[in-house]
Amino acid sequence: PGTPFETSLRRVRQNVDEIWHYLRTKMDKKSMGFVNDLRYNMFYELDVLSDRDNRWRNQELKNLSDFVQNRIHRLQNPSDCENAKKLVCDLNKYCGFGCQIHHLAHCFVAALALNRTLICDTQDWRSSSGEQNVWNKLFQPISQTCVNPNGHNRTDWGDDKRLHSYQVMYYPIIDYITPLPEFLPLVIPQQIADPLIRQSGEPFIWFIGNVLKYMLRPSDQLSQFMDTFKRDNQFSHPIVGIHVRRTDKIGTEAKFHTIDEYMFYVEDFYNKLDLKSVRQSANKKAQRLVYLATDEPNVWLKEIKPYQERGYVFKGDIKLSQSADPSQRQEFESLHDVVVDLLLLSQCDYIVCTFSSQICRMAFELMQTRHSSTQDMSQAFYSLDDIYYFGGQVFHGKKAIVSHSAQSKREISFNAGDILGIERNEHNGYNTGDHNRTKRKGLYPRFKVTEFVESKPFAAFH
Ligand code: GDP
Repeated sequence: PGTPFETSLRRVRQNVDEIWHYLRTKMDKKSMGFVNDLRYNMFYELDVLSDRDNRWRNQELKNLSDFVQNRIHRLQNPSDCENAKKLVCDLNKYCGFGCQIHHLAHCFVAALALNRTLICDTQDWRSSSGEQNVWNKLFQPISQTCVNPNGHNRTDWGDDKRLHSYQVMYYPIIDYITPLPEFLPLVIPQQIADPLIRQSGEPFIWFIGNVLKYMLRPSDQLSQFMDTFKRDNQFSHPIVGIHVRRTDKIGTEAKFHTIDEYMFYVEDFYNKLDLKSVRQSANKKAQRLVYLATDEPNVWLKEIKPYQERGYVFKGDIKLSQSADPSQRQEFESLHDVVVDLLLLSQCDYIVCTFSSQICRMAFELMQTRHSSTQDMSQAFYSLDDIYYFGGQVFHGKKAIVSHSAQSKREISFNAGDILGIERNEHNGYNTGDHNRTKRKGLYPRFKVTEFVESKPFAAFH
């Protein structure tokens, strides 16, 4: 069997961008005009090719998503909670909002792998500001019927098979797990692996996105707010989301990026779309809408001005970023506002952000669960800094599809089938990473590798 059609299509799309990144570092701006014209035209033809079976592709992803949602729902609402096997997680890991949500997501992964109902006291989540029931104001409860953490007997996490007979298992935070479970991220459930790898360019991110989709089902209150907010703001498609994370993050966990760096990719997205409408003989060009989410009000007040003058229309609300002041992050208002930004970023057709931020990674995760678009969403982003990661992940690898012999001292050689680590996308056609076997670290061409996806059986999916 050769490469599946879906994989090939995704790979060509990605490689068109790899050529672009490669040439950008070699050519002057004027010559890049030619390359971009060519690239937009190639993307148009690729859309024509993929449009052919998109309905089937999206349907398969949607079926998978429904399957995962159903299984989580079933696991979380056992008919006999008194005797159900339970996994207990403490939600109050002392870290930011995104980190806590990812912590809970990782507990959900364990619950699904072990087929245990996840018990987590969301009641006292973030109540340090004195506000009651913050979780339920924003989200639906993670279980309707089973919240009692007690049982006939209990144990701490361990991978000894005998521990499976205990009714209650306490599960630690990801940073302190020993022994390491075989299902830790970036592992995906074996039962859905084949169709998922076929249809999604980012199977793990799709999977964790679906866990988040369940966890973050908006409460009625939040749902209503979102509907009104979207209507008042005239949030419509196509729209590109940008997440500009500044304040306490700069100089500690991330570098400063100017608004121009973000807008370069927004512009590229709309140029691509404009060419498409020309090719389709549609005279109407899309309005250039941008959903702006940021913790820095000055982006609204000053930085976007030149782009507004050029016709870009920014959606969102400066009030959301004003409540993002680091000194009031425990307050409900701040939490509410970042959730609104997060959910709307995830509804955009493309996002430009920094993957060093959990907010941006969550938005991208949730984005993968939308199957109404014309293609899978695994390439609908640009990260100005890190590549995607899940905090506490065991290994992120790439698998070579063809061999490579190093062209300089900075490159590494490998054979087809070898596994390579990935540390960085250099955005010049190369990754930096190390060879799993030789341990040599260096550059390797991105087009010669593909995502290395590991899968293990998840008991809740039997
Ligand atoms: P990270 O620090 O970006 O990795 O993510 P955290 O969830 O740990 O912390 C982010 C905090 O910054 C959030 O709880 C918000 O208070 C604030 N924040 C960051 N980005 C945004 C944004 O786009 N909008 C709003 N309203 N707040 C944000």
